[in-house]
Amino acid sequence: MKRIYLFEEGAAKDKRLLGGKGANLAEMMKMGLPVPPGFIITTETCLEYSGAGEKMPERLMDEVATGIKHIEEKTGKKFGDIHNPLLVSVRSGAAISMPGMMDTILNLGLNDETVKGLTELGGNERFAYDAYRRFIAMFCKIAMGVQGELFDETFERIKRKHGAKYDTDLDAEALKEVVKEFKKICKDALGKEFPSDPYEQLRLAIEAVFKSWNSPRCVAYRKEFKITPDIANGTAVNVVAMVFGNMGNDSATGVAFTRDPATGENVLFGEYLTNAQGEDVVAGVRTPKPISKMKDEMPQIYQELLKFRDILEHRYREVQDFEFTIERGKLHMLQTRGGKMNAEARVKTAVDMVKEGIITKEEAILRLYPEQLEKLMHKRIDPKSKAKSIARGLAASPGAASGIAIFSADDAEREGKAGKDVILVREETKPEDVHGFFASQGILTSRGGKTSHAAVVARGIGKPCVSGCEAIRIDVRAKKAYIGKAVINEGDVLTIDGSSGDVYLGEVSMIEPELGEELLELLKWADKKRRLGVLANTDTPEGALQARKFGAEGIGLCRTERMFNATDRLPLVQAMILSETADERKPYLEKLLPMQKQDFKEILKAMEGLPVTVRLLDPPLHEFLPSYEELQRDVDDLKKERESLPLKRKTSVITKRAKDLENTIAEKEKMAKRIRTLAEINPMLGHRGVRVGITEPDIYETQIRAYFEACAEVMKEGTMIKPELMVPNVCTLQELIVVKEILDRVASEVEQKYGLKVPMKFGTMIEVVRACLEADQIAKVAEFFSFGTNDLTQATFSFSREDAENKFLPFYTENKVLPDNPFQTLDIEGVGKLMKICIELGRKTRPDIKIGICGEHGGDPKSVEFCDDIKLTYVSCSPYRVPIARLAAAQAALRNQSS
Ligand code: ADP
Ligand code: MG
Ligand code: MG
Repeated sequence: MKRIYLFEEGAAKDKRLLGGKGANLAEMMKMGLPVPPGFIITTETCLEYSGAGEKMPERLMDEVATGIKHIEEKTGKKFGDIHNPLLVSVRSGAAISMPGMMDTILNLGLNDETVKGLTELGGNERFAYDAYRRFIAMFCKIAMGVQGELFDETFERIKRKHGAKYDTDLDAEALKEVVKEFKKICKDALGKEFPSDPYEQLRLAIEAVFKSWNSPRCVAYRKEFKITPDIANGTAVNVVAMVFGNMGNDSATGVAFTRDPATGENVLFGEYLTNAQGEDVVAGVRTPKPISKMKDEMPQIYQELLKFRDILEHRYREVQDFEFTIERGKLHMLQTRGGKMNAEARVKTAVDMVKEGIITKEEAILRLYPEQLEKLMHKRIDPKSKAKSIARGLAASPGAASGIAIFSADDAEREGKAGKDVILVREETKPEDVHGFFASQGILTSRGGKTSHAAVVARGIGKPCVSGCEAIRIDVRAKKAYIGKAVINEGDVLTIDGSSGDVYLGEVSMIEPELGEELLELLKWADKKRRLGVLANTDTPEGALQARKFGAEGIGLCRTERMFNATDRLPLVQAMILSETADERKPYLEKLLPMQKQDFKEILKAMEGLPVTVRLLDPPLHEFLPSYEELQRDVDDLKKERESLPLKRKTSVITKRAKDLENTIAEKEKMAKRIRTLAEINPMLGHRGVRVGITEPDIYETQIRAYFEACAEVMKEGTMIKPELMVPNVCTLQELIVVKEILDRVASEVEQKYGLKVPMKFGTMIEVVRACLEADQIAKVAEFFSFGTNDLTQATFSFSREDAENKFLPFYTENKVLPDNPFQTLDIEGVGKLMKICIELGRKTRPDIKIGICGEHGGDPKSVEFCDDIKLTYVSCSPYRVPIARLAAAQAALRNQSS
């Protein structure tokens, strides 16, 4: 088995064997990019090591020695040589990157002898000893597990002793002292000398990389994110010749993206630090310079980077995130990988790359994550707002957010969980702060660039971030921040705008999101590829217009009860419900009819030319009434007031007040009594939907008439319409027949009254198990089916949603009793099977029957894919999820085509 691959021997496709970092280093070398020489120990070797109970495979170090020999030949340096020493970095790297794996060790190969050689090479003793002290600390911490603070404390102490403020204030002699003390720390901690033999150092470092694969953090991460062995199995070890970005002002180190990962703009984007080594940029210790500065500072290198950026993009056909180092005016590439971008940039770069001929439209569609589109619709600061920003940092992740200032990740998590909107304010962030990001609306840091940890993580999870806002001084201990004269205490409201970098005191007004130009274009391409129709669930004319803007092809679910809940109507609706007979109800229904008709007319006009599916009343009637307890409390209060009235005085004001009170009490008592009779043990399975329509047919008749008349009236005005009526909660054919009879009667009456025929389609919701099993019967009358998967999921599982989600469902999903929450992601195995049965039966009776889904699942990408598989006609979801469904439907169609 070949354990060692020279960079010359690998390729990008070998990620599983060589790890992502190694495979891409090899690929870059193949492309002719300047990669320092090096080699990769395979992931299989790592598995061999763990499989043997953490024992180094025999002869591995001999193979490593041939790898080192190769590097020696290419660099002309020698490992362990006292005049011309080769130093290497040792870097872990699995098929995909994972927290918990070993951090990189730089400058390996240094000891008391070779450090002299490094002085000769660098022409500078200070540089050599600085490298040496960094190496000892890094090696002890990372490979030997020595406590890091021991080194930091000693270092600070020596700095104090020499009156040094910065590391750079220490001269070579002082650094020699540091080295001495560091070696002592090592000896005290490990009970033996710091290993001076470079090969011994290398062996220990390699072993440490292997071990890190099974570190608890790494194992937990793989479990959490379902990284199975077929995705990544073992980590590779990369041994790379060192290049030095800290050899003076003609040296530098940096990271760059081939395009701007925050906006997607087609420009080289990145940051660099002159005279610095590796990690300094990523760690955000010093705020780095934007790469555009390099145009002036190192024009030749800048041109070279531009050339490399094209080479990388044409090879990988994806935006790349790469690391480079310049040693005395020579550029070296140290890493490349797919760039993490926010949703905005993903969309823009995908569309641009199609236009540039780098990828196809299909690839662009398939490359996006539908869920991410939701994040694209960020709120923005209202351009009309007059708020003045008090500071400006870097626009690190777009979108605006307001919340209370909180100065630690733990506090942010606590406040966030308590339902507060939080802005996490930090000097800089570290991986252990990430839980605070999830709990916050936005992140503000005073240090670090656009590639700092805070910026990268915020973009990854789609939260607004302003980074490197140097005008802010943060006092973490006191939980306070200062901007000029302004003091921000914990809990003060801040607004940040991650698209401009602005920071505001207090809340600033924001506007709702819109689809950007690129997304509109991409969704148009998606529309051409998809088979499924995408409709919206909405109940208002405004919602209908919004849905159209997002590309909805009609309304798949218009809930009439929402119209009843409007404040001006609720009293009428309540009076109607409190009536005990049809005669009593009549006057109220007559008042409600024109109101509902007006709503329908507006919605029909907003959706001109597209289907509008109106659902008849669904919830149980008592949902429109106040709670019994609440009413009783009111009655008690009123009674108390009446008793306390000084009735003996008999003034007209008092008698009138008493009379009013009597009446209100009587009314409320009547309502309470009616609520009692309407009360149900299990309302979800109670007197609701078509069941109310059958026992109180005048209610459904009013709604049907309102819709028919609305249709007739807008048709008269010349509006093109496609109206549909559907009935909720149906479980037998006979229920539908009863409603259909009402509909037919109303239809002919309306036809006579207006002299035209309304092209109404009649269908049913499918949300009861029996309806699925009786679909062949039901299809005799129903011209379309619409799966109400929320209720159907409740019915199939016999879970009441609220109880399930509040009590046992989280436990079920955490412990893998169920793979997902079936109310969010359609349960394909169970509910899906019922749907399939229903579709088959329904199409047997009526082959061209239109079948859709209008539950929340209609906007969930995985569920949309299933809907495409089972050949539904359309999905209907909330307006904001329409773009997601359009993209998911196109992806499903493309995937189904290719399989
Ligand atoms: P990570 O996975 O955390 O990015 P890397 O292995 O890329 O770790 O290394 C950390 C830092 O050290 C990076 O800035 C990288 O460019 C730098 N580095 C790694 N190897 C070398 C080397 N051979 N010469 C100079 N710098 C290096
Ligand atoms: Mg790196
Ligand atoms: Mg329902």
